[in-house]
Amino acid sequence: MRIPLTDLTAQYQSLRDEIDAAIDRITTSGSFILGPEVEAFECEIADWCQVSHGVGVASGTDALYLALLACGIGEGDEVLTTPFTFIATTEAIRRCGATPVFVDIAPDTCNMDPGLLERHITRSTRAILPVHLYGNPIDMTRLMEIARRHELVVVEDCAQSLGATWQGRKVGSFGDAGCLSFFPSKMLGASGDAGMVITNNECVADMVRALRSHGTTRKYYHEMPGINSRLDTLQAAMLRVKLRRLDEWIRRRREVAATYGDYLRNASGISLLRPTDGGTHVYNYFTLGVQGGAGVRNALAAHLTERGIATAVYYPCSLHLQPVYRGLGYQPGDLPESEAAQDSVLSLPMYPEITDSQIEEVSQALMACPALQFHR
Ligand SMILES: *Cc1c(COP(=O)(O)O)cnc(C)c1O
Repeated sequence: MRIPLTDLTAQYQSLRDEIDAAIDRITTSGSFILGPEVEAFECEIADWCQVSHGVGVASGTDALYLALLACGIGEGDEVLTTPFTFIATTEAIRRCGATPVFVDIAPDTCNMDPGLLERHITRSTRAILPVHLYGNPIDMTRLMEIARRHELVVVEDCAQSLGATWQGRKVGSFGDAGCLSFFPSKMLGASGDAGMVITNNECVADMVRALRSHGTTRKYYHEMPGINSRLDTLQAAMLRVKLRRLDEWIRRRREVAATYGDYLRNASGISLLRPTDGGTHVYNYFTLGVQGGAGVRNALAAHLTERGIATAVYYPCSLHLQPVYRGLGYQPGDLPESEAAQDSVLSLPMYPEITDSQIEEVSQALMACPALQFHR
Protein backbone atom coordinates (compact mmCIF):
# COMPACT_ATOMS: atom_id res chain seq x y z
CA MET A 1 0.00 0.00 0.00
CA ARG A 2 1.31 3.44 -0.87
CA ILE A 3 -0.71 4.93 1.97
CA PRO A 4 -0.93 2.39 4.78
CA LEU A 5 -3.47 2.36 7.60
CA THR A 6 -0.70 3.08 10.06
CA ASP A 7 3.05 3.42 9.56
CA LEU A 8 5.17 1.94 12.31
CA THR A 9 8.45 2.06 10.41
CA ALA A 10 8.19 5.85 9.99
CA GLN A 11 7.81 6.13 13.75
CA TYR A 12 10.82 3.90 14.38
CA GLN A 13 12.98 5.83 11.89
CA SER A 14 12.25 9.09 13.69
CA LEU A 15 13.39 7.60 17.03
CA ARG A 16 15.90 5.04 15.84
CA ASP A 17 18.92 6.18 17.87
CA GLU A 18 17.03 6.47 21.15
CA ILE A 19 15.21 3.16 20.72
CA ASP A 20 18.37 1.32 19.74
CA ALA A 21 20.13 2.78 22.78
CA ALA A 22 17.28 1.57 25.02
CA ILE A 23 17.47 -1.95 23.56
CA ASP A 24 21.24 -1.95 24.03
CA ARG A 25 20.88 -0.83 27.64
CA ILE A 26 18.60 -3.82 28.42
CA THR A 27 20.45 -6.48 26.44
CA THR A 28 23.78 -5.54 27.99
CA SER A 29 22.27 -5.36 31.49
CA GLY A 30 21.12 -8.99 31.23
CA SER A 31 17.98 -8.09 33.24
CA PHE A 32 14.91 -8.97 31.19
CA ILE A 33 12.03 -9.52 33.63
CA LEU A 34 10.43 -6.58 35.50
CA GLY A 35 13.02 -4.46 37.35
CA PRO A 36 13.57 -0.69 37.44
CA GLU A 37 12.84 -0.10 33.74
CA VAL A 38 9.31 -1.55 34.05
CA GLU A 39 8.75 0.31 37.32
CA ALA A 40 9.86 3.59 35.77
CA PHE A 41 7.52 3.08 32.81
CA GLU A 42 4.63 2.19 35.14
CA CYS A 43 5.18 5.44 37.07
CA GLU A 44 5.51 7.51 33.90
CA ILE A 45 2.26 6.13 32.45
CA ALA A 46 0.43 6.54 35.76
CA ASP A 47 1.57 10.20 35.97
CA TRP A 48 0.68 10.82 32.35
CA CYS A 49 -2.79 9.32 32.89
CA GLN A 50 -3.27 11.21 36.19
CA VAL A 51 -3.68 8.05 38.30
CA SER A 52 -1.69 6.71 41.24
CA HIS A 53 -0.73 3.22 40.00
CA GLY A 54 0.28 1.44 36.81
CA VAL A 55 0.92 -2.29 36.60
CA GLY A 56 2.52 -3.57 33.40
CA VAL A 57 1.17 -6.81 31.96
CA ALA A 58 1.73 -8.90 28.82
CA SER A 59 -1.15 -7.50 26.71
CA GLY A 60 -4.27 -5.39 26.73
CA THR A 61 -6.32 -8.58 26.84
CA ASP A 62 -4.56 -9.67 30.03
CA ALA A 63 -4.96 -6.17 31.47
CA LEU A 64 -8.75 -6.54 31.12
CA TYR A 65 -8.77 -10.08 32.49
CA LEU A 66 -6.58 -9.30 35.50
CA ALA A 67 -8.39 -6.01 36.26
CA LEU A 68 -11.75 -7.82 36.32
CA LEU A 69 -10.32 -10.59 38.53
CA ALA A 70 -8.76 -8.03 40.87
CA CYS A 71 -12.14 -6.29 41.15
CA GLY A 72 -13.71 -9.57 42.22
CA ILE A 73 -15.60 -10.43 39.02
CA GLY A 74 -16.17 -14.17 38.60
CA GLU A 75 -18.56 -17.05 38.06
CA GLY A 76 -22.22 -16.06 37.79
CA ASP A 77 -21.58 -12.33 37.43
CA GLU A 78 -22.97 -10.28 34.57
CA VAL A 79 -20.87 -7.54 32.98
CA LEU A 80 -22.53 -4.84 30.86
CA THR A 81 -20.50 -4.03 27.78
CA THR A 82 -20.68 -3.04 24.13
CA PRO A 83 -21.18 -5.53 21.31
CA PHE A 84 -19.21 -3.25 18.98
CA THR A 85 -15.60 -3.78 20.01
CA PHE A 86 -12.68 -6.13 19.54
CA ILE A 87 -13.35 -9.57 20.98
CA ALA A 88 -10.63 -9.19 23.63
CA THR A 89 -13.11 -7.11 25.66
CA THR A 90 -15.56 -9.97 26.10
CA GLU A 91 -12.87 -12.67 26.09
CA ALA A 92 -11.64 -11.19 29.37
CA ILE A 93 -15.16 -11.34 30.83
CA ARG A 94 -15.62 -14.99 29.77
CA ARG A 95 -12.19 -15.97 31.10
CA CYS A 96 -13.26 -14.77 34.56
CA GLY A 97 -16.29 -17.06 34.35
CA ALA A 98 -18.63 -14.07 34.00
CA THR A 99 -21.19 -13.36 31.26
CA PRO A 100 -21.15 -10.35 28.93
CA VAL A 101 -24.51 -8.60 28.61
CA PHE A 102 -24.56 -6.45 25.49
CA VAL A 103 -25.84 -2.88 25.51
CA ASP A 104 -26.46 -1.39 22.06
CA ILE A 105 -24.43 1.53 20.71
CA ALA A 106 -25.28 5.10 19.82
CA PRO A 107 -25.13 5.27 16.00
CA ASP A 108 -23.46 8.70 15.86
CA THR A 109 -20.40 7.61 17.88
CA CYS A 110 -20.49 3.77 17.75
CA ASN A 111 -19.85 3.83 21.52
CA MET A 112 -22.10 2.01 23.99
CA ASP A 113 -25.17 4.18 24.68
CA PRO A 114 -25.17 4.98 28.44
CA GLY A 115 -28.88 5.77 28.19
CA LEU A 116 -29.56 2.06 27.58
CA LEU A 117 -27.49 0.72 30.49
CA GLU A 118 -30.07 0.65 33.26
CA ARG A 119 -32.62 -1.49 31.43
CA HIS A 120 -30.07 -4.33 31.35
CA ILE A 121 -29.28 -4.32 35.08
CA THR A 122 -30.35 -7.49 36.91
CA ARG A 123 -29.61 -8.99 40.34
CA SER A 124 -26.49 -10.60 38.82
CA THR A 125 -25.02 -7.42 37.32
CA ARG A 126 -21.66 -6.66 38.94
CA ALA A 127 -19.75 -4.48 36.52
CA ILE A 128 -19.77 -2.16 33.52
CA LEU A 129 -16.98 -2.48 30.97
CA PRO A 130 -17.12 0.57 28.67
CA VAL A 131 -14.86 0.77 25.61
CA HIS A 132 -13.77 4.21 24.40
CA LEU A 133 -13.96 3.09 20.77
CA TYR A 134 -11.55 4.43 18.12
CA GLY A 135 -10.15 6.87 20.73
CA ASN A 136 -13.47 8.61 21.41
CA PRO A 137 -14.40 8.81 25.11
CA ILE A 138 -17.80 7.71 26.32
CA ASP A 139 -19.74 10.00 28.72
CA MET A 140 -18.11 8.90 32.00
CA THR A 141 -20.11 11.28 34.21
CA ARG A 142 -23.33 9.55 33.26
CA LEU A 143 -21.80 6.09 33.37
CA MET A 144 -20.20 6.56 36.83
CA GLU A 145 -23.43 7.96 38.21
CA ILE A 146 -25.28 4.78 37.14
CA ALA A 147 -22.44 2.58 38.44
CA ARG A 148 -22.51 4.30 41.86
CA ARG A 149 -26.27 4.10 42.15
CA HIS A 150 -26.22 0.35 41.48
CA GLU A 151 -22.88 -0.32 43.23
CA LEU A 152 -21.23 -1.68 40.11
CA VAL A 153 -17.53 -2.10 39.41
CA VAL A 154 -16.27 -0.10 36.39
CA VAL A 155 -13.35 -1.33 34.30
CA GLU A 156 -12.55 0.93 31.34
CA ASP A 157 -11.20 -0.57 28.11
CA CYS A 158 -8.80 2.16 27.00
CA ALA A 159 -6.96 -0.01 24.46
CA GLN A 160 -7.77 2.49 21.69
CA SER A 161 -7.99 5.64 23.77
CA LEU A 162 -4.77 6.29 25.68
CA GLY A 163 -4.71 10.07 26.18
CA ALA A 164 -8.39 10.71 25.44
CA THR A 165 -10.08 12.90 28.04
CA TRP A 166 -13.54 13.29 29.46
CA GLN A 167 -14.24 16.67 31.14
CA GLY A 168 -10.48 17.31 31.18
CA ARG A 169 -9.52 14.04 32.85
CA LYS A 170 -7.79 11.16 31.09
CA VAL A 171 -9.90 8.08 30.43
CA GLY A 172 -8.95 5.09 32.56
CA SER A 173 -8.93 7.30 35.66
CA PHE A 174 -12.70 7.23 36.25
CA GLY A 175 -13.46 3.59 36.97
CA ASP A 176 -11.96 1.10 39.41
CA ALA A 177 -9.36 0.32 36.74
CA GLY A 178 -8.39 1.33 33.22
CA CYS A 179 -6.83 -1.12 30.76
CA LEU A 180 -4.25 -0.11 28.19
CA SER A 181 -2.92 -1.98 25.18
CA PHE A 182 0.46 -1.28 23.63
CA PHE A 183 -0.27 -3.55 20.65
CA PRO A 184 1.81 -2.10 17.76
CA SER A 185 -1.11 -0.32 16.05
CA LYS A 186 -2.47 1.34 19.20
CA MET A 187 -1.83 4.94 20.37
CA LEU A 188 1.48 3.96 21.98
CA GLY A 189 2.71 0.89 20.15
CA ALA A 190 5.24 -1.64 21.42
CA SER A 191 7.41 -3.83 19.20
CA GLY A 192 5.23 -6.79 20.16
CA ASP A 193 2.53 -7.37 22.78
CA ALA A 194 2.27 -5.32 25.96
CA GLY A 195 -0.40 -3.82 28.21
CA MET A 196 -1.05 -2.11 31.53
CA VAL A 197 -3.67 -1.74 34.22
CA ILE A 198 -3.95 1.78 35.64
CA THR A 199 -5.89 2.56 38.81
CA ASN A 200 -6.29 4.88 41.77
CA ASN A 201 -7.14 1.90 43.98
CA GLU A 202 -4.09 0.52 45.79
CA CYS A 203 -5.76 -2.83 46.52
CA VAL A 204 -6.56 -3.35 42.83
CA ALA A 205 -2.96 -2.44 41.89
CA ASP A 206 -1.49 -4.85 44.47
CA MET A 207 -3.83 -7.61 43.36
CA VAL A 208 -2.95 -7.21 39.65
CA ARG A 209 0.75 -7.08 40.58
CA ALA A 210 0.42 -10.42 42.38
CA LEU A 211 -1.82 -12.03 39.73
CA ARG A 212 0.50 -11.15 36.83
CA SER A 213 3.32 -13.01 38.49
CA HIS A 214 1.93 -16.39 39.63
CA GLY A 215 -0.07 -14.96 42.53
CA THR A 216 3.17 -14.05 44.27
CA THR A 217 3.07 -11.62 47.16
CA ARG A 218 6.55 -12.54 48.44
CA LYS A 219 9.05 -14.55 46.40
CA TYR A 220 7.97 -18.23 46.33
CA TYR A 221 4.89 -17.55 48.49
CA HIS A 222 1.62 -17.69 46.58
CA GLU A 223 -1.59 -16.45 48.16
CA MET A 224 -3.81 -16.88 45.12
CA PRO A 225 -3.80 -18.64 41.77
CA GLY A 226 -2.10 -16.34 39.27
CA ILE A 227 -0.65 -16.45 35.78
CA ASN A 228 2.51 -15.33 34.02
CA SER A 229 1.62 -12.02 32.39
CA ARG A 230 4.39 -9.51 32.86
CA LEU A 231 5.28 -6.53 30.71
CA ASP A 232 8.61 -7.31 29.01
CA THR A 233 11.46 -5.14 30.21
CA LEU A 234 12.62 -4.63 26.62
CA GLN A 235 9.17 -3.38 25.63
CA ALA A 236 9.06 -1.06 28.65
CA ALA A 237 12.43 0.44 27.72
CA MET A 238 11.30 1.11 24.13
CA LEU A 239 7.90 2.41 25.18
CA ARG A 240 9.52 4.91 27.54
CA VAL A 241 11.23 6.49 24.54
CA LYS A 242 7.96 6.69 22.62
CA LEU A 243 5.94 8.03 25.56
CA ARG A 244 7.96 11.27 25.41
CA ARG A 245 6.49 11.86 21.95
CA LEU A 246 2.90 10.84 22.68
CA ASP A 247 1.49 14.35 23.32
CA GLU A 248 2.94 15.54 20.02
CA TRP A 249 1.55 12.47 18.19
CA ILE A 250 -1.91 13.01 19.65
CA ARG A 251 -1.84 16.67 18.57
CA ARG A 252 -1.00 15.57 15.05
CA ARG A 253 -3.67 12.82 14.99
CA ARG A 254 -6.28 15.42 15.95
CA GLU A 255 -4.99 17.72 13.22
CA VAL A 256 -5.16 14.87 10.67
CA ALA A 257 -8.77 14.18 11.71
CA ALA A 258 -9.64 17.87 11.36
CA THR A 259 -8.11 17.94 7.87
CA TYR A 260 -10.07 14.83 6.83
CA GLY A 261 -13.14 16.56 8.27
CA ASP A 262 -12.55 19.65 6.11
CA TYR A 263 -12.52 17.52 2.96
CA LEU A 264 -15.22 15.02 3.83
CA ARG A 265 -17.76 16.87 5.99
CA ASN A 266 -20.17 17.38 3.11
CA ALA A 267 -19.18 14.42 0.96
CA SER A 268 -22.16 12.47 -0.35
CA GLY A 269 -22.86 8.93 0.81
CA ILE A 270 -20.80 9.06 3.99
CA SER A 271 -21.13 10.46 7.50
CA LEU A 272 -18.38 11.29 9.98
CA LEU A 273 -18.69 9.84 13.47
CA ARG A 274 -19.24 12.47 16.14
CA PRO A 275 -16.63 13.10 18.85
CA THR A 276 -18.47 12.96 22.20
CA ASP A 277 -19.31 16.48 23.47
CA GLY A 278 -17.32 17.09 26.65
CA GLY A 279 -14.42 14.86 25.66
CA THR A 280 -11.35 14.87 23.45
CA HIS A 281 -11.02 12.17 20.80
CA VAL A 282 -7.45 10.93 20.14
CA TYR A 283 -8.21 9.17 16.82
CA ASN A 284 -6.45 5.85 17.22
CA TYR A 285 -8.61 5.15 14.16
CA PHE A 286 -10.35 7.58 11.82
CA THR A 287 -13.65 5.92 11.05
CA LEU A 288 -16.60 7.00 8.97
CA GLY A 289 -20.01 5.57 8.25
CA VAL A 290 -20.84 4.65 4.65
CA GLN A 291 -24.50 4.81 3.66
CA GLY A 292 -26.14 2.08 1.61
CA GLY A 293 -25.00 -1.04 3.46
CA ALA A 294 -22.06 -3.42 3.35
CA GLY A 295 -22.10 -3.66 -0.46
CA VAL A 296 -21.43 0.06 -0.92
CA ARG A 297 -18.92 0.12 1.97
CA ASN A 298 -16.99 -2.82 0.51
CA ALA A 299 -17.02 -1.26 -2.97
CA LEU A 300 -15.54 1.92 -1.48
CA ALA A 301 -12.85 -0.12 0.31
CA ALA A 302 -11.99 -1.94 -2.93
CA HIS A 303 -11.90 1.37 -4.83
CA LEU A 304 -9.37 2.77 -2.34
CA THR A 305 -7.29 -0.44 -2.29
CA GLU A 306 -6.96 -0.26 -6.09
CA ARG A 307 -5.47 3.20 -5.63
CA GLY A 308 -2.91 2.02 -3.07
CA ILE A 309 -4.85 3.31 -0.07
CA ALA A 310 -5.33 0.93 2.87
CA THR A 311 -8.60 0.77 4.83
CA ALA A 312 -9.98 -1.44 7.59
CA VAL A 313 -13.36 -2.45 8.98
CA TYR A 314 -13.46 -2.28 12.78
CA TYR A 315 -15.62 -4.43 13.13
CA PRO A 316 -17.46 -6.46 10.48
CA CYS A 317 -19.35 -8.72 12.90
CA SER A 318 -20.99 -7.52 16.08
CA LEU A 319 -19.90 -9.68 19.03
CA HIS A 320 -23.41 -10.88 19.89
CA LEU A 321 -23.54 -12.59 16.48
CA GLN A 322 -20.11 -14.24 16.68
CA PRO A 323 -20.23 -18.04 16.39
CA VAL A 324 -18.23 -18.35 19.62
CA TYR A 325 -21.07 -16.63 21.54
CA ARG A 326 -23.93 -18.70 20.10
CA GLY A 327 -24.42 -20.07 23.59
CA LEU A 328 -25.34 -16.61 24.91
CA GLY A 329 -28.61 -16.82 22.98
CA TYR A 330 -28.57 -13.59 20.94
CA GLN A 331 -30.40 -13.38 17.59
CA PRO A 332 -29.95 -11.10 14.59
CA GLY A 333 -32.03 -7.99 15.26
CA ASP A 334 -31.36 -7.95 19.02
CA LEU A 335 -28.87 -5.04 18.78
CA PRO A 336 -29.91 -3.14 15.65
CA GLU A 337 -27.49 -0.20 15.91
CA SER A 338 -24.48 -2.45 16.34
CA GLU A 339 -25.65 -4.59 13.41
CA ALA A 340 -26.07 -1.48 11.24
CA ALA A 341 -22.60 -0.23 12.22
CA GLN A 342 -20.91 -3.50 11.23
CA ASP A 343 -22.12 -2.89 7.65
CA SER A 344 -21.28 0.81 7.48
CA VAL A 345 -17.97 1.55 9.24
CA LEU A 346 -14.73 2.09 7.35
CA SER A 347 -11.44 3.32 8.80
CA LEU A 348 -9.04 5.43 6.74
CA PRO A 349 -5.24 5.80 7.03
CA MET A 350 -4.45 7.55 10.33
CA TYR A 351 -1.01 8.02 11.85
CA PRO A 352 0.97 11.05 12.98
CA GLU A 353 3.42 10.85 10.06
CA ILE A 354 0.77 10.98 7.29
CA THR A 355 1.30 14.11 5.17
CA ASP A 356 -1.31 16.73 4.31
CA SER A 357 -1.04 15.82 0.62
CA GLN A 358 -1.69 12.14 1.46
CA ILE A 359 -4.80 13.14 3.43
CA GLU A 360 -5.96 15.13 0.40
CA GLU A 361 -5.25 12.18 -1.90
CA VAL A 362 -7.25 9.77 0.29
CA SER A 363 -10.15 12.24 0.53
CA GLN A 364 -10.24 12.96 -3.22
CA ALA A 365 -10.07 9.24 -4.06
CA LEU A 366 -12.91 8.57 -1.64
CA MET A 367 -15.14 11.32 -3.04
CA ALA A 368 -14.52 10.09 -6.60
CA CYS A 369 -15.80 6.59 -5.79
CA PRO A 370 -18.67 5.75 -8.19
CA ALA A 371 -20.37 3.48 -5.61
CA LEU A 372 -21.00 6.54 -3.41
CA GLN A 373 -22.32 8.66 -6.31
CA PHE A 374 -24.71 5.99 -7.59
CA HIS A 375 -25.98 5.30 -4.12
CA ARG A 376 -27.24 8.86 -3.87
C1 LIG B 1 -6.47 -4.03 21.05
C2 LIG B 1 -7.64 -4.12 21.90
C3 LIG B 1 -7.68 -4.95 23.04
C4 LIG B 1 -6.65 -5.99 23.36
O1 LIG B 1 -5.36 -5.56 23.41
P1 LIG B 1 -4.14 -6.55 23.11
O2 LIG B 1 -2.97 -5.78 23.62
O3 LIG B 1 -4.10 -6.76 21.64
O4 LIG B 1 -4.36 -7.81 23.87
C5 LIG B 1 -8.79 -4.88 23.86
N1 LIG B 1 -9.81 -4.07 23.58
C6 LIG B 1 -9.82 -3.28 22.50
C7 LIG B 1 -10.99 -2.38 22.28
C8 LIG B 1 -8.75 -3.30 21.61
O5 LIG B 1 -8.77 -2.51 20.54
